Amino acid sequence: MKQIFLSFLSFAFLFAVNAQTPNRATPDIISTGNGPLTIQPLVHASLVLSTSGLTIYADPTGGAANYAGIKAPDLILITDIHGDHFDVKTISAVRTAGTTLVVPKAVADLMPDSLKGKIVILNNGDKTTLSGISITALPMYNLPESPKAMHTKGRGNGYVLGIGGKNLYLSGDTQGIPEMRSLKDIDIAFVCMNLPYTMDINEAADAVLAFKPKIVYPYHYRGTGGLSDVEGFKKVVEAGNKNIEVRLRNWYPS
Ligand code: ZN
Repeated sequence: MKQIFLSFLSFAFLFAVNAQTPNRATPDIISTGNGPLTIQPLVHASLVLSTSGLTIYADPTGGAANYAGIKAPDLILITDIHGDHFDVKTISAVRTAGTTLVVPKAVADLMPDSLKGKIVILNNGDKTTLSGISITALPMYNLPESPKAMHTKGRGNGYVLGIGGKNLYLSGDTQGIPEMRSLKDIDIAFVCMNLPYTMDINEAADAVLAFKPKIVYPYHYRGTGGLSDVEGFKKVVEAGNKNIEVRLRNWYPS
């Protein structure tokens, strides 16, 4: 009887854990001079980086439930004004009084006063260092450049983060722009590929082959036609340069 009761308890416990923890890709761990860097893909453009007690959320979306069991953010990086990157409801739910928001000016301009307590505005080309992490804002935009483009040059930011001697690139929503193609010494890259918003897998692969990150994660790959062919992206990149590791993770868990 006691055993049955214990089994019931374990079942109830497991069920409770499953009910609270959203489906997530398994995190990756990369060693840096700061100790291990944990990379947790969440959904689309949303991810969490953790290193030596510091937690960084990039483009948090999906509400507090998406972050269940994850430490509150010390830094939140926002790339652009669209809802899949700048989600006021989620930011308000997950940030604390100690959280610093790093945003382009166009995002700051749309922010409610309630979020303006601790923000750092970076425009394309600006650099700063926060909590030992260097942060460089890069352009992200559609080609050809046009005031009517979905992503106009100068509005949003891609970012390069320097973490314990490793350089990590977040593309934001962009095409294979010269500023991406000329990046140097990128260890880990997150590159978007979805139509009609950013670029197709061939343009993304061509840009990746130009800047040669050591590891690349396709992210932000759901477009109006469904999910992009990230397996095809992997094939093109690996055929072009077998030293680039393409990491396919599930950025769209059910
Ligand atoms: Zn987007």
